[in-house]
Amino acid sequence: MTEIMTVNGPITPDQLGITDYHEHLYVEPPTWLHGKDPDFALDSVEKSAEELQSFADAGGRTICELTAVDFGRNVGKIKAIADKVPEVNVIMTAGYNRPHYMGRWGYAVAEADMIRDTVRDLTVGIDGTDIKAGIIKCGTEYNNFNEMGQKLVRVAAAAYRETGRPVITHTTAGTMGYEQSDLLIEQGVDAHRIALSHMDRNPDAPEHKRIASLGVYVGYDCFGKSKYGPESRRVTLIRDMIDSGHGQRLLIGNDLGRPSYWRAYGGGPGLDFVLTSFRARLRQEGFTEDELTMLFIDNPRRFFAGER
Ligand SMILES: [Zn+2]
Repeated sequence: MTEIMTVNGPITPDQLGITDYHEHLYVEPPTWLHGKDPDFALDSVEKSAEELQSFADAGGRTICELTAVDFGRNVGKIKAIADKVPEVNVIMTAGYNRPHYMGRWGYAVAEADMIRDTVRDLTVGIDGTDIKAGIIKCGTEYNNFNEMGQKLVRVAAAAYRETGRPVITHTTAGTMGYEQSDLLIEQGVDAHRIALSHMDRNPDAPEHKRIASLGVYVGYDCFGKSKYGPESRRVTLIRDMIDSGHGQRLLIGNDLGRPSYWRAYGGGPGLDFVLTSFRARLRQEGFTEDELTMLFIDNPRRFFAGER
């Protein structure tokens, strides 16, 4: 499958350009979650479009919008944001985020129904529209691959077998990535169509190399968030992965799914951070232009095109 599905229809791999593999543009979190942590609501089309424009101005061309239905996906709002910044391709997500957000309906809904809904989002359209998702999501909890986590992974694998769309998972603090990969592959997902998110929350290079050796993509998206450790550790991790021959299995994003991360909502570092400050730092630390092209353009293109 060489076609990639965006909110404005299919594009070819060469149209992806600089790609951020894991973001959120609009989030309506479940009421119980919003009550516990109001810093999840990305709820302004205007502010999100302003932020997306900063990504476009920094050279960004594709955003993967990883908000799944259990985290508060809103297809109409995301389409409205995408339409305000036409130079950026926006790819939406089918499947489910993680057991913690699913709550009891993760058990109550039959697996076959979850598969049917996921495939419908990918092949017919999301929530009664003709806007299709282009990514399949699933996820697990911290150090725990429980029954519901395994169910979400099996649903994603079944949707992959029917549609061939790539799978991008949520890992909680970078744990259970190998286990997710193992079950996805056992369930028929090709390793080079799997990407694991938030792996730099646990910057364990040997473990990341073990996963990359399966052929699976390892996603890094904690840049500019020093609460998850210093930036130097993430720079060293990327250097180590490239020097050991695993650079072609890295994906770069920023997962700025909170208003406090965005300048337009009064926070920081902002959606252009990776392409401005962080990219400048990589150059300063001796990364070559070829390496930067590999990280920001070639790797996501290969992943979405389904090339090995
Ligand atoms: Zn995310």
